[in-house]
Amino acid sequence: MVPSSLPQTGCWAEAALGTNRPANARYNVFILNRAVETMSDVIALIFDFDDTLAPDSTSGFLESMGVDTQQFWSGRVDPPLAQDWDPVPAYLHEMIALSQRGDHGLITQERLQAWGRTLPLHTGVTTLFSRLREQVRRAHPQVQLEFYLISSGIGDVVRHTQIASEFNAIWASEFIYDEQGGIAFPRRIVSFTDKTRYLFHIQKGIVGPAYVGKPFEVNRKVPEDRLRVPFDQMVFVGDGYTDIPCFSLIRSSGGFAFGVWDPKHRDKRSRAWGFIEDGRVSNLNQARYDDDAELYQWLEEALTSLAGRIALKSRVYRG
Ligand SMILES: [Mg+2]
Repeated sequence: MVPSSLPQTGCWAEAALGTNRPANARYNVFILNRAVETMSDVIALIFDFDDTLAPDSTSGFLESMGVDTQQFWSGRVDPPLAQDWDPVPAYLHEMIALSQRGDHGLITQERLQAWGRTLPLHTGVTTLFSRLREQVRRAHPQVQLEFYLISSGIGDVVRHTQIASEFNAIWASEFIYDEQGGIAFPRRIVSFTDKTRYLFHIQKGIVGPAYVGKPFEVNRKVPEDRLRVPFDQMVFVGDGYTDIPCFSLIRSSGGFAFGVWDPKHRDKRSRAWGFIEDGRVSNLNQARYDDDAELYQWLEEALTSLAGRIALKSRVYRG
């Protein structure tokens, strides 16, 4: 209840208690200052999935079906690229064709989800989220850390991995299924610049069930001081060509972009090196996330530094 002696222009909010109270204790405060109310204290850490948090999940799925993945990618997906196909619909189209040929059985939603539940993740990924949350909470308890996933991979796979519940939102390519239960058509394609579209969702707070079925909502104009997560409060981690637009947008807006490569795939290292040569990323590291991994330590550093910047801004804002 709002005390009658207070002006009605603020709002009730949950805030962390001071340092001499139990670490996880919180209390309700009434925020009087409108400027404070609209000041964002959220950091978004956004991940790509394939080769960033896990070995390529589509290749893994195809291998689990007994498909020759070399033949699939080089023999089936590459040729249409010469006919000016976009790479993401090209691979989705070839997966549909594979399912319809039937040599390896139908590709059903259940099969994709089952693969998602069992697929391997890179070292340290399962505990990465809780460790980073704890690090930020310890350094700057008033700052909120959120995780997002933007993937050109398949939604029915990535939404069923053991880390799926760590993300505030997951955007990925999606299929519709025919009467037999097999994949029939892509209903969402997440490719190159499509990935940046979801950064705008995060920036404007257009996330969650309230926005399902409202594809144009992302174009809504939001004043700068009302943005839920400004780009300079975002950190992006990715490995591939489809991540370049996100690297550029976040980096040019004052956020951090981390390029990664899987040390098990040296062929992909030179692509990652290109990101450094072209100035696309702030850092380049192996996609490993245990406590001692360089990437993990840089992520801790970037998040703590961003959280410090936010805490300082909020003090200046309050005057
Ligand atoms: Mg990737």
